[in-house]
Amino acid sequence: MAKIGFIGLGNMGGPMAANLIKAGHALKVFDLSEAAVGKAVAEGATKASTVSDAATDVEFVVTVLPAGKHVLSVYDGPDGVIANAKAGTLLIDSSTIEVDAARKAAELAKAEGLGAVDAPISGGVAGATAGTLTFMVGGDDGDFDRAKPVLEGMGSNIIHAGTSGAGQAAKICNNMVLGVSMIAVSEAFMLAKRLGLDAQKLFDISSKASGQCWSLTSYCPVPGPVPTSPANRDYQPGFAVDMMLKDLKLAQQAAASAGATTPMGALAESLYALYSNSGNGGMDFSAIVKMLDGDK
Ligand code: NAD
Repeated sequence: MAKIGFIGLGNMGGPMAANLIKAGHALKVFDLSEAAVGKAVAEGATKASTVSDAATDVEFVVTVLPAGKHVLSVYDGPDGVIANAKAGTLLIDSSTIEVDAARKAAELAKAEGLGAVDAPISGGVAGATAGTLTFMVGGDDGDFDRAKPVLEGMGSNIIHAGTSGAGQAAKICNNMVLGVSMIAVSEAFMLAKRLGLDAQKLFDISSKASGQCWSLTSYCPVPGPVPTSPANRDYQPGFAVDMMLKDLKLAQQAAASAGATTPMGALAESLYALYSNSGNGGMDFSAIVKMLDGDK
Protein backbone atom coordinates (compact mmCIF):
# COMPACT_ATOMS: atom_id res chain seq x y z
CA MET A 1 0.00 0.00 0.00
CA ALA A 2 1.26 3.45 -0.87
CA LYS A 3 2.25 6.57 1.04
CA ILE A 4 0.16 9.39 -0.43
CA GLY A 5 0.08 13.15 0.14
CA PHE A 6 -3.45 14.46 -0.49
CA ILE A 7 -4.18 18.18 -0.98
CA GLY A 8 -7.73 19.54 -1.37
CA LEU A 9 -10.37 17.87 0.81
CA GLY A 10 -13.53 19.57 -0.52
CA ASN A 11 -16.77 18.08 -1.81
CA MET A 12 -14.87 15.73 -4.11
CA GLY A 13 -11.46 15.40 -2.43
CA GLY A 14 -12.91 14.62 1.03
CA PRO A 15 -14.71 11.40 0.04
CA MET A 16 -11.91 10.46 -2.41
CA ALA A 17 -9.38 10.62 0.43
CA ALA A 18 -11.71 8.57 2.65
CA ASN A 19 -11.83 5.83 -0.02
CA LEU A 20 -8.03 5.74 -0.35
CA ILE A 21 -7.79 5.24 3.42
CA LYS A 22 -10.38 2.45 3.24
CA ALA A 23 -8.29 0.86 0.46
CA GLY A 24 -5.38 0.66 2.94
CA HIS A 25 -3.17 3.57 1.79
CA ALA A 26 -1.35 5.84 4.28
CA LEU A 27 -2.50 9.43 3.72
CA LYS A 28 -0.94 12.75 4.76
CA VAL A 29 -3.59 15.40 4.14
CA PHE A 30 -3.57 19.18 3.73
CA ASP A 31 -6.35 21.72 3.09
CA LEU A 32 -6.82 25.41 3.93
CA SER A 33 -9.93 24.32 5.85
CA GLU A 34 -9.12 22.99 9.32
CA ALA A 35 -12.55 21.34 9.47
CA ALA A 36 -11.86 19.36 6.28
CA VAL A 37 -8.48 18.22 7.62
CA GLY A 38 -10.07 17.27 10.96
CA LYS A 39 -12.64 15.09 9.22
CA ALA A 40 -9.98 13.25 7.20
CA VAL A 41 -7.86 12.73 10.33
CA ALA A 42 -10.91 11.25 12.10
CA GLU A 43 -11.18 8.83 9.14
CA GLY A 44 -7.57 7.69 9.60
CA ALA A 45 -5.34 10.22 7.78
CA THR A 46 -2.30 11.99 9.22
CA LYS A 47 -2.41 15.80 9.30
CA ALA A 48 0.17 17.67 7.21
CA SER A 49 0.77 21.20 8.46
CA THR A 50 1.76 22.63 5.06
CA VAL A 51 1.75 21.78 1.34
CA SER A 52 5.46 20.93 1.56
CA ASP A 53 4.83 18.62 4.51
CA ALA A 54 2.14 16.76 2.49
CA ALA A 55 4.62 16.30 -0.40
CA THR A 56 7.58 15.14 1.69
CA ASP A 57 8.53 11.44 1.88
CA VAL A 58 5.53 10.11 -0.08
CA GLU A 59 5.26 8.11 -3.31
CA PHE A 60 2.23 9.97 -4.71
CA VAL A 61 0.71 13.44 -4.30
CA VAL A 62 -2.99 13.73 -5.23
CA THR A 63 -4.49 17.22 -5.67
CA VAL A 64 -8.23 18.01 -5.98
CA LEU A 65 -8.38 21.82 -6.13
CA PRO A 66 -10.82 24.40 -7.52
CA ALA A 67 -8.90 25.73 -10.58
CA GLY A 68 -5.62 25.84 -12.51
CA LYS A 69 -4.21 28.77 -10.56
CA HIS A 70 -4.56 26.79 -7.32
CA VAL A 71 -2.84 23.74 -8.80
CA LEU A 72 0.09 25.75 -10.19
CA SER A 73 0.51 27.70 -6.94
CA VAL A 74 0.47 24.48 -4.87
CA TYR A 75 2.95 22.78 -7.27
CA ASP A 76 5.38 25.68 -7.78
CA GLY A 77 7.77 27.69 -5.58
CA PRO A 78 10.13 26.78 -2.73
CA ASP A 79 7.25 25.71 -0.44
CA GLY A 80 5.45 23.85 -3.21
CA VAL A 81 4.93 20.17 -3.99
CA ILE A 82 7.60 19.95 -6.70
CA ALA A 83 10.43 21.46 -4.65
CA ASN A 84 9.70 19.19 -1.70
CA ALA A 85 8.79 15.83 -3.23
CA LYS A 86 11.55 13.24 -3.54
CA ALA A 87 12.69 12.18 -7.03
CA GLY A 88 10.30 9.69 -8.61
CA THR A 89 7.21 10.86 -6.73
CA LEU A 90 4.16 10.73 -9.01
CA LEU A 91 1.88 13.79 -8.99
CA ILE A 92 -1.79 13.06 -9.78
CA ASP A 93 -3.95 16.13 -10.33
CA SER A 94 -7.68 15.36 -10.32
CA SER A 95 -8.85 18.99 -10.46
CA THR A 96 -10.64 20.22 -13.60
CA ILE A 97 -8.26 22.83 -15.05
CA GLU A 98 -7.13 24.37 -18.36
CA VAL A 99 -5.41 21.95 -20.78
CA ASP A 100 -2.49 24.41 -21.00
CA ALA A 101 -2.18 24.61 -17.20
CA ALA A 102 -2.15 20.80 -16.97
CA ARG A 103 0.64 20.61 -19.54
CA LYS A 104 2.60 23.31 -17.70
CA ALA A 105 2.17 21.50 -14.36
CA ALA A 106 3.49 18.27 -15.92
CA GLU A 107 6.48 20.07 -17.49
CA LEU A 108 7.42 21.66 -14.16
CA ALA A 109 7.22 18.28 -12.43
CA LYS A 110 9.22 16.40 -15.07
CA ALA A 111 11.98 19.03 -15.07
CA GLU A 112 12.61 18.05 -11.42
CA GLY A 113 12.56 14.29 -11.97
CA LEU A 114 8.96 13.70 -10.88
CA GLY A 115 6.15 11.89 -12.67
CA ALA A 116 2.89 13.70 -13.43
CA VAL A 117 -0.58 12.90 -14.76
CA ASP A 118 -3.72 14.97 -15.17
CA ALA A 119 -6.61 12.78 -14.02
CA PRO A 120 -9.84 14.80 -13.96
CA ILE A 121 -12.96 13.10 -12.72
CA SER A 122 -16.56 12.51 -13.69
CA GLY A 123 -19.29 11.18 -11.44
CA GLY A 124 -19.94 13.99 -8.97
CA VAL A 125 -20.04 13.81 -5.19
CA ALA A 126 -22.13 10.62 -5.34
CA GLY A 127 -19.46 8.90 -7.45
CA ALA A 128 -16.66 10.24 -5.22
CA THR A 129 -18.43 8.86 -2.13
CA ALA A 130 -19.23 5.48 -3.70
CA GLY A 131 -15.71 5.16 -5.17
CA THR A 132 -17.15 4.81 -8.68
CA LEU A 133 -15.60 7.87 -10.38
CA THR A 134 -14.41 7.86 -13.97
CA PHE A 135 -10.81 9.10 -14.32
CA MET A 136 -9.63 10.50 -17.67
CA VAL A 137 -5.87 10.34 -17.53
CA GLY A 138 -3.25 12.28 -19.49
CA GLY A 139 0.43 11.29 -19.19
CA ASP A 140 3.16 8.84 -20.26
CA ASP A 141 2.43 5.10 -20.31
CA GLY A 142 4.73 4.52 -17.32
CA ASP A 143 3.10 7.24 -15.21
CA PHE A 144 -0.37 5.96 -16.14
CA ASP A 145 0.55 2.41 -15.08
CA ARG A 146 1.82 3.69 -11.72
CA ALA A 147 -1.22 5.94 -11.13
CA LYS A 148 -3.77 3.24 -11.99
CA PRO A 149 -3.74 1.24 -8.71
CA VAL A 150 -4.14 4.47 -6.72
CA LEU A 151 -6.98 5.69 -8.95
CA GLU A 152 -8.68 2.28 -8.62
CA GLY A 153 -9.08 3.06 -4.92
CA MET A 154 -11.35 5.99 -5.88
CA GLY A 155 -12.99 5.03 -9.15
CA SER A 156 -14.29 2.21 -11.31
CA ASN A 157 -13.34 3.46 -14.80
CA ILE A 158 -9.71 4.48 -15.33
CA ILE A 159 -9.11 5.52 -18.94
CA HIS A 160 -5.77 6.53 -20.46
CA ALA A 161 -6.69 9.42 -22.79
CA GLY A 162 -3.19 10.21 -24.12
CA THR A 163 -0.22 12.40 -23.19
CA SER A 164 -0.21 15.30 -20.67
CA GLY A 165 -3.36 17.43 -20.94
CA ALA A 166 -5.36 14.72 -22.75
CA GLY A 167 -7.35 13.93 -19.61
CA GLN A 168 -8.43 17.57 -19.31
CA ALA A 169 -9.17 17.69 -23.05
CA ALA A 170 -11.47 14.65 -22.71
CA LYS A 171 -13.21 16.15 -19.68
CA ILE A 172 -14.06 19.49 -21.33
CA CYS A 173 -15.05 17.91 -24.67
CA ASN A 174 -17.42 15.55 -22.85
CA ASN A 175 -18.91 18.31 -20.70
CA MET A 176 -19.37 20.57 -23.73
CA VAL A 177 -21.54 17.81 -25.26
CA LEU A 178 -23.42 17.57 -21.96
CA GLY A 179 -24.08 21.35 -21.69
CA VAL A 180 -25.24 21.63 -25.29
CA SER A 181 -27.38 18.47 -25.17
CA MET A 182 -29.08 19.52 -21.91
CA ILE A 183 -30.15 22.80 -23.53
CA ALA A 184 -31.34 20.99 -26.69
CA VAL A 185 -33.40 18.48 -24.68
CA SER A 186 -34.82 21.31 -22.53
CA GLU A 187 -35.84 23.30 -25.63
CA ALA A 188 -37.59 20.23 -27.03
CA PHE A 189 -39.65 19.75 -23.84
CA MET A 190 -40.64 23.43 -23.80
CA LEU A 191 -41.63 23.30 -27.47
CA ALA A 192 -43.64 20.12 -26.78
CA LYS A 193 -45.40 21.85 -23.88
CA ARG A 194 -46.53 24.69 -26.12
CA LEU A 195 -47.63 22.26 -28.83
CA GLY A 196 -49.75 20.35 -26.31
CA LEU A 197 -47.56 17.22 -26.49
CA ASP A 198 -47.38 15.35 -23.18
CA ALA A 199 -43.85 15.31 -21.65
CA GLN A 200 -44.02 11.56 -20.90
CA LYS A 201 -45.06 10.86 -24.52
CA LEU A 202 -42.13 12.90 -25.86
CA PHE A 203 -39.81 11.00 -23.51
CA ASP A 204 -41.21 7.58 -24.53
CA ILE A 205 -40.82 8.37 -28.23
CA SER A 206 -37.56 10.33 -28.22
CA SER A 207 -35.77 7.90 -25.92
CA LYS A 208 -36.41 5.21 -28.58
CA ALA A 209 -35.71 7.53 -31.53
CA SER A 210 -32.81 9.62 -32.81
CA GLY A 211 -33.13 12.29 -30.08
CA GLN A 212 -31.94 9.73 -27.50
CA CYS A 213 -29.06 10.98 -25.32
CA TRP A 214 -27.91 10.92 -21.67
CA SER A 215 -29.47 14.33 -20.91
CA LEU A 216 -32.83 12.85 -21.91
CA THR A 217 -32.76 9.26 -20.65
CA SER A 218 -30.62 9.53 -17.49
CA TYR A 219 -31.07 13.13 -16.39
CA CYS A 220 -34.37 14.29 -17.90
CA PRO A 221 -34.80 18.04 -17.17
CA VAL A 222 -38.58 17.87 -16.57
CA PRO A 223 -40.18 16.10 -13.60
CA GLY A 224 -41.67 12.65 -14.12
CA PRO A 225 -40.00 10.50 -16.78
CA VAL A 226 -36.72 9.79 -14.89
CA PRO A 227 -37.50 9.53 -11.15
CA THR A 228 -33.84 9.97 -10.09
CA SER A 229 -33.26 13.20 -12.04
CA PRO A 230 -32.90 16.51 -10.10
CA ALA A 231 -36.07 17.83 -11.81
CA ASN A 232 -37.97 15.71 -9.26
CA ARG A 233 -36.34 17.43 -6.26
CA ASP A 234 -36.64 21.11 -7.18
CA TYR A 235 -33.39 20.96 -9.16
CA GLN A 236 -31.11 20.57 -6.14
CA PRO A 237 -27.68 19.47 -7.44
CA GLY A 238 -26.40 17.04 -8.66
CA PHE A 239 -24.09 19.05 -10.84
CA ALA A 240 -24.48 22.78 -10.26
CA VAL A 241 -24.97 25.48 -12.92
CA ASP A 242 -21.70 27.15 -11.85
CA MET A 243 -19.79 23.86 -12.27
CA MET A 244 -21.18 23.46 -15.78
CA LEU A 245 -20.34 27.11 -16.52
CA LYS A 246 -16.76 26.58 -15.33
CA ASP A 247 -16.32 23.60 -17.69
CA LEU A 248 -17.93 25.42 -20.65
CA LYS A 249 -15.57 28.37 -20.08
CA LEU A 250 -12.61 25.98 -20.07
CA ALA A 251 -13.86 24.47 -23.34
CA GLN A 252 -14.10 27.92 -24.95
CA GLN A 253 -10.61 28.90 -23.72
CA ALA A 254 -9.23 25.66 -25.15
CA ALA A 255 -11.09 26.19 -28.44
CA ALA A 256 -9.64 29.72 -28.77
CA SER A 257 -6.15 28.49 -27.94
CA ALA A 258 -6.35 25.50 -30.35
CA GLY A 259 -8.22 27.27 -33.17
CA ALA A 260 -11.32 25.03 -32.98
CA THR A 261 -14.77 26.29 -34.06
CA THR A 262 -17.33 25.55 -31.34
CA PRO A 263 -20.35 27.84 -31.84
CA MET A 264 -22.82 25.61 -29.96
CA GLY A 265 -20.40 25.38 -27.03
CA ALA A 266 -20.08 29.18 -27.04
CA LEU A 267 -23.86 29.61 -27.01
CA ALA A 268 -24.21 27.08 -24.18
CA GLU A 269 -21.62 29.03 -22.18
CA SER A 270 -23.58 32.30 -22.72
CA LEU A 271 -26.89 30.71 -21.69
CA TYR A 272 -25.41 29.17 -18.54
CA ALA A 273 -23.72 32.50 -17.68
CA LEU A 274 -27.06 34.26 -18.07
CA TYR A 275 -28.79 31.72 -15.83
CA SER A 276 -26.00 31.91 -13.23
CA ASN A 277 -26.07 35.72 -13.24
CA SER A 278 -29.80 35.59 -12.48
CA GLY A 279 -28.91 34.04 -9.13
CA ASN A 280 -29.18 30.37 -10.10
CA GLY A 281 -25.53 29.28 -9.90
CA GLY A 282 -26.26 26.77 -7.14
CA MET A 283 -29.16 25.05 -8.93
CA ASP A 284 -28.65 21.80 -10.79
CA PHE A 285 -27.61 22.50 -14.39
CA SER A 286 -30.78 20.82 -15.74
CA ALA A 287 -32.76 23.76 -14.22
CA ILE A 288 -31.82 25.71 -17.38
CA VAL A 289 -35.16 24.32 -18.63
CA LYS A 290 -36.88 26.82 -16.30
CA MET A 291 -35.14 29.76 -17.97
CA LEU A 292 -36.21 28.43 -21.37
CA ASP A 293 -39.76 28.22 -19.98
CA GLY A 294 -39.60 31.93 -19.20
CA ASP A 295 -39.15 31.47 -15.45
CA LYS A 296 -35.94 32.79 -13.82
P1 NAD B 1 -14.46 22.37 -3.33
O1 NAD B 1 -14.47 23.85 -3.46
O2 NAD B 1 -15.54 21.70 -2.54
O3 NAD B 1 -13.05 21.88 -2.73
C1 NAD B 1 -11.81 22.47 -3.00
C2 NAD B 1 -10.96 22.33 -1.77
O4 NAD B 1 -9.66 22.83 -2.06
C3 NAD B 1 -11.48 23.13 -0.57
O5 NAD B 1 -11.57 22.28 0.56
C4 NAD B 1 -10.44 24.23 -0.39
O6 NAD B 1 -10.26 24.61 0.98
C5 NAD B 1 -9.19 23.53 -0.93
N1 NAD B 1 -8.14 24.47 -1.34
C6 NAD B 1 -8.24 25.55 -2.14
N2 NAD B 1 -7.02 26.13 -2.31
C7 NAD B 1 -6.15 25.37 -1.58
C8 NAD B 1 -4.75 25.45 -1.35
N3 NAD B 1 -4.00 26.43 -1.88
N4 NAD B 1 -4.18 24.52 -0.56
C9 NAD B 1 -4.93 23.53 0.00
N5 NAD B 1 -6.24 23.40 -0.19
C10 NAD B 1 -6.85 24.33 -0.97
O7 NAD B 1 -14.45 21.82 -4.84
P2 NAD B 1 -14.90 20.36 -5.34
O8 NAD B 1 -16.34 20.33 -5.65
O9 NAD B 1 -14.31 19.33 -4.42
O10 NAD B 1 -14.13 20.30 -6.76
C11 NAD B 1 -12.75 20.08 -6.84
C12 NAD B 1 -12.36 19.93 -8.30
O11 NAD B 1 -13.08 18.83 -8.87
C13 NAD B 1 -12.70 21.15 -9.16
O12 NAD B 1 -11.65 21.38 -10.07
C14 NAD B 1 -13.99 20.75 -9.85
O13 NAD B 1 -14.16 21.43 -11.10
C15 NAD B 1 -13.78 19.26 -10.03
N6 NAD B 1 -15.01 18.48 -10.13
C16 NAD B 1 -16.03 18.68 -9.27
C17 NAD B 1 -17.20 17.94 -9.40
C18 NAD B 1 -18.37 18.13 -8.45
O14 NAD B 1 -19.45 17.59 -8.73
N7 NAD B 1 -18.21 18.84 -7.33
C19 NAD B 1 -17.31 16.98 -10.41
C20 NAD B 1 -16.23 16.77 -11.26
C21 NAD B 1 -15.09 17.53 -11.12
